[in-house]
Amino acid sequence: MTSDRNHLLEEHLPELTGTALVEHLPGIVYVDAADDVQTNLYTSPQVEAILGVPPERWRSDREGWASMVHPDDRERVLAESRRAQETGEPFVSEYRLVRPDGRIVWIRDHAVLMRDDRGRPRCWQGVMFDVTDLKETEQRLHEAEQRYRALVEDLPAIVYVDLADESMATIFVSPQIERILGVTPQEYIDDPDLWARMLHPDDRERALQTYVRGREAGRPFSYEYRLIARDGRVVWFRDSAVVLPGSDGRPGLIQGVMLDITERKEAEEQAAFLAYHDSLTELPNKAMFDDLLERALARARRHDLGVAVLYVDLDNFKLVNDSLGHEAGDALLVQLADRLQEATRETDLVARQGGDEFLLLLADLERSSPLAEGDGATIVAGSVADRVQRALEAPFLIDGHELYVTASIGISVFPNDAQDAASLLKNADTAAYRAKRAGPGAYVLHRADEQDALTKLSLSTRLRKAVEQRAWMLHYQPIVDLADGRMVGVEALIRWPEPGGGLVPPGEFIPLAEEMGLIEAIGDWVVEEISRQDASWRDEGLTLDVGFNLSPRQLWQEDLAERLVTTLRAGGMDPSRVTVEITESTAMTDPDRTLEILRDLHGRGFRLAIDDFGTGYSSLARLRHMPVDVLKIDRAFIREVHTDRQSASMVSAIIALAQNLGMQALAEGIETLEEWRFLADRGCPLGQGYVFSRPVPAHEILALVRRSGMRVLPGGLAG
Ligand code: C2E
Ligand code: MG
Ligand code: MG
Repeated sequence: MTSDRNHLLEEHLPELTGTALVEHLPGIVYVDAADDVQTNLYTSPQVEAILGVPPERWRSDREGWASMVHPDDRERVLAESRRAQETGEPFVSEYRLVRPDGRIVWIRDHAVLMRDDRGRPRCWQGVMFDVTDLKETEQRLHEAEQRYRALVEDLPAIVYVDLADESMATIFVSPQIERILGVTPQEYIDDPDLWARMLHPDDRERALQTYVRGREAGRPFSYEYRLIARDGRVVWFRDSAVVLPGSDGRPGLIQGVMLDITERKEAEEQAAFLAYHDSLTELPNKAMFDDLLERALARARRHDLGVAVLYVDLDNFKLVNDSLGHEAGDALLVQLADRLQEATRETDLVARQGGDEFLLLLADLERSSPLAEGDGATIVAGSVADRVQRALEAPFLIDGHELYVTASIGISVFPNDAQDAASLLKNADTAAYRAKRAGPGAYVLHRADEQDALTKLSLSTRLRKAVEQRAWMLHYQPIVDLADGRMVGVEALIRWPEPGGGLVPPGEFIPLAEEMGLIEAIGDWVVEEISRQDASWRDEGLTLDVGFNLSPRQLWQEDLAERLVTTLRAGGMDPSRVTVEITESTAMTDPDRTLEILRDLHGRGFRLAIDDFGTGYSSLARLRHMPVDVLKIDRAFIREVHTDRQSASMVSAIIALAQNLGMQALAEGIETLEEWRFLADRGCPLGQGYVFSRPVPAHEILALVRRSGMRVLPGGLAG
């Protein structure tokens, strides 16, 4: 066999054998006989290095090759090989061989059929190159390409190439345009005006200008603009372009990238909105208010206009928060924000200062009013304040609760009482505080000549001290039977003695004590003092019914009724001799909850009075179900019974209403005999007022009784 093979080799392949080239090629050179079994005639020694098979074994085992082909490639490769044999065409194939040690080698196999002079097949000459490295590189390249393609196509950017001439025609645009704008590249290329048409109207002129200028200058340019996508979405782009010179040195192409920056822009807008808005109500915040106030003042100075600042402060927001929880409080603020906006004009700014405080800015006000005398700006401000108060009259529906809310409003007007933003705000704040003291739902105009010596701050400091020292006293005002002027009881009214000998009236510190959370401590003192005083009067032989006032927060105290009973009983006082007064607006702030508390109090024997009736906005349906004994008609109506027909009929109506509801009407603040007569004539059973007695210290009540028995006003109406 060996000599046979040698013979064949010598005969057919003198050009191959023994040459250094063949033995050193990075491949396996082989020669197979062109017979049926393709007897291997020669295999160069590299077969050992490349395939791990010694040349002799390779040569003796022709089947070895086929069995080494990777199973996934085998069928294909054998078919290719058979076809080459049948047709005599070159065999060209790439496939994997599995070496005996398991490693896989990529082979590029190239063989051609050699023929003799007469054209008869002689043998196959071939080379098997080891292309493993190449294949792996190719594979990696392919993967990298896939990754790159995915990256580029997902990139929120559109690459484009335009002709840098008047036509603005686009000659290339990357496929992302379809995903981002809903326009196919072809559509975009076919319609040279499409870009300009898609531009957001607000950006169109500027963007076109930038583009044309950039093209003419031939320098890189970049700009931001919005395009309106097919589906109407607004897409923000940052477009960066370079101008590539044409062959004649003039602009040839514009190559650019349009980066989709919508998300960033939206985040920026959101941030800008947040920086200038209150997140709860979405109203402008204090920062924005300050900004716009400054601008309004600048305009006002130039054109001699007025600017008004209204400071709106809810009267019993704390109460809502404390009784119904913060979520209800938040819901109330959101609804309030809406009502404030409805109550004001388009051009007015409503802002939230924080908490339950809101600011209104009325700008560009004419200073002289054609409609009325006086300062135009002030008149407008007053009417807006009125509108706001009216907007709060209807109850707020929160969590199924009907809440009645009032606000105190302070007004300050430029240039009348302040020249700059800071003083305007400060004055409006001070005025709001004064409004609060004037009673719920009031508004107060700040005046330049007014000086607020008692600043809120120093007042609150002094109030804290007073609470520590329990530095209070009670005055008592007789309550009389209007039919005969007999004293039927007294109302206890708190006083705060000042170092100088004066007395601070409760209206000036009770609201602040409420706000500061000091009212409970003060209230406890009041009840203790009443119980102590009652014991002392009884020692003197005087047994009186006593009424006292509860402010909103006190009403919501835990175990209120229980504690009242304990304190009073300790001093030997029965609840049946005690009247608890709550104002109408307190009662209506959360009527459901109030009702429960009132029932509790009533159940323990207390008498109940609704104070300042007529100033709140009671729901009669609710009032009917409250276990109320006395309806105290607000002083404001009594004061006007002789000057204002409406007040007079209002008073009559309330007296009748009380009768119908099984309550006793009580007229507050009776100052004259005429008023007394009016009320007595209308059948009002009870009253109190200066005409009988001012509130006086306890010893004076005793002196009064000693002097004239229970007849507070000897002679009475008859006199
Ligand atoms: P109120 O309960 O409606 O008390 C009646 C107020 O009218 C008292 O004012 C009284 O001095 C005043 N008044 C009585 N008769 C006349 C009159 O003929 N003419 C005029 N012009 N005024 C008259 P005062 O003492 O300043 O109290 C104001 C409010 O402060 C009270 O209104 C009550 O709501 C509250 N208050 C008083 N004491 C307490 C207290 O101990 N605790 C709480 N929470 N509030 C209190
Ligand atoms: Mg009262
Ligand atoms: Mg009253």
